[in-house]
Amino acid sequence: MRFEFATATRVVFGEGTAATLPELARSFGTHPLVVTGASTTRAASFVTALSAELFAVPGEPTVDLVREGARYAQNAGCDVVVSLGGGSVIDAGKAIAAIATNGGEPLDFLEGVGKGRAIVAPPLSLIAVPTTAGTGSEVTRNAVLGSTEHGVKASMRSPLMLPRVALVDPELTYGLPPAITASTGLDALTQLIEPYVSARANPLVDALCVAGIGRVAGALRGAYRAGADRDARRDMALASLLGGLALANAGLGLVHGFAAPLGGSWKAPHGALCAALLPHGMAANVAALRARAPRHPALERYAAIARLLTGRNEASAEDGIDWVRALCVDLNVPALHTWGITEADLPGVVEKATRASSMQANPLPLTAEELLAVVRAAL
Ligand SMILES: [Zn+2]
Repeated sequence: MRFEFATATRVVFGEGTAATLPELARSFGTHPLVVTGASTTRAASFVTALSAELFAVPGEPTVDLVREGARYAQNAGCDVVVSLGGGSVIDAGKAIAAIATNGGEPLDFLEGVGKGRAIVAPPLSLIAVPTTAGTGSEVTRNAVLGSTEHGVKASMRSPLMLPRVALVDPELTYGLPPAITASTGLDALTQLIEPYVSARANPLVDALCVAGIGRVAGALRGAYRAGADRDARRDMALASLLGGLALANAGLGLVHGFAAPLGGSWKAPHGALCAALLPHGMAANVAALRARAPRHPALERYAAIARLLTGRNEASAEDGIDWVRALCVDLNVPALHTWGITEADLPGVVEKATRASSMQANPLPLTAEELLAVVRAAL
């Protein structure tokens, strides 16, 4: 056996820890740039307390927005970045911190579509403060950016882009509306299931995934129904963090392979795409494993996932898929057509998904027909 597991992010977790943010930011610099979402109300008190600059990220980040943010940080002489928001805001902060010191066009650094330029200079120090429980972006080394020109989402990636501190305060998620709780929570679940069955899984990642899947099973319905459920919100914040550590070290799979081109061409939240695809992706992998690789270790892993989700020792891989399907119904997960995706779009989506980096970690390669069936079932 041979594997690597890396993280250089200091994690500070717990209810009320967000109050330590001003002091924490001052330990990294004197003039912070606070990157936040469309609503800047929550960030306002931090901006005042820190005499910081404010940069708002209204939607999922693009190369244009990152270019603008990096220029703003440079012109204002910022020396530390605080990302306060969901996955989009944290990813934007990572990319802004990297471009502010490396210069150049964000597009040139994007995997697959860019020039393959590498991050060489250490980015500005980044403190990531998630306000959703889903992406785990506070502990990953990539930032997903959209390029409207290429109709795809792709990553800027470097170990140097890991946030210096992940400040995870579950209280920041109490006010999330049910639909966002559902989509981000199902993204967290996907990011625990895909690394666990990944071709690159390893024992450290396994332990994180097992701990996280059980927590989502016990908490996501509760967090959806009662936003201020303290235990449910804490478990979801932890599950999201565990998923981030897992995916950064073992990769993902076909659900994220589809989320990349779909999110690049349609205005749909990442979590909602993953949620719509998850049960169908699991079903396709289990069916292909049974048909072509019945002794593949991923099959037993799908059964272990089913036991964690259902709490039943005799649960089969298929029972786990049924459990996720029922969860998606209970949480009112919208089908892909909601976002304007049509049957005619699917062959092109499959072609792009096949080349996505996440697809390479899927437990076994699926045929174009099998992939088409997954995205059609989610339509
Ligand atoms: Zn995801």
